[in-house]
Amino acid sequence: MLKIITVDGPSGVGKGTLCERLCQMTGFHFLDSGAIYRSLAYGVILEKLSLDHEADLVALAASLPVQFQTGKIYYTQDDITQQIRNEEVAAMASQVAAIPSVRAALLQRQKDFAQPPGLVADGRDMGTVVFPQADLKLFLTASAQIRAERRVNQLKNQGLTANIDQIISDIEARDERDRNRSVAPLIPADDAFVIDTTSLNIEQVVEKSTEIMQQ
Ligand code: C5P
Repeated sequence: MLKIITVDGPSGVGKGTLCERLCQMTGFHFLDSGAIYRSLAYGVILEKLSLDHEADLVALAASLPVQFQTGKIYYTQDDITQQIRNEEVAAMASQVAAIPSVRAALLQRQKDFAQPPGLVADGRDMGTVVFPQADLKLFLTASAQIRAERRVNQLKNQGLTANIDQIISDIEARDERDRNRSVAPLIPADDAFVIDTTSLNIEQVVEKSTEIMQQ
């Protein structure tokens, strides 16, 4: 039987790492829905599309030339795995993601990831909109400060430097837009288990999620 686990929450909350661990534990497929929105944003920047021309954005979303292959993301032939992780792309992703017709154009593409034996889906609206029938819904939260600190550490590990104040303000602006948009706002599904990861390390988050899965 096809099983679906959704993991929603704001940026930098630890969803990606938790999903990776859940995939290892279950052998399920993985949907990084943020990467789909980021790939669209990459295309919008590349094609110099205007946010005011909704029809162009929807047309690109409907035929988005993106492919996920063994941990890499390709836009047409180009490997964009790293490029879509920058803040310019993230900010554009959250702007295009606020347009209802764009979200609708990407819906089926996300649903298609649900293949046997199961799926772990990472995003903002996995449990509320894309997979409302999911078997298990997790929603992670954490303070903006700790999420920004984790992001700074991530960048340091990649040999990059970062300004924590700038990162906090970017994260807050993006969360605000994600939370207040008219469609698929960033809120937990009624039947989601909410885990505050502010003072938890990844092992503790995995442990809590496993406990919930076994309930
Ligand atoms: O998760 P990630 O930071 O990669 O997502 C980038 C942006 O894409 C988010 O800030 C959000 O605006 C948008 N997004 C969304 N719905 C999803 C996943 C991502 O609106 N399911």
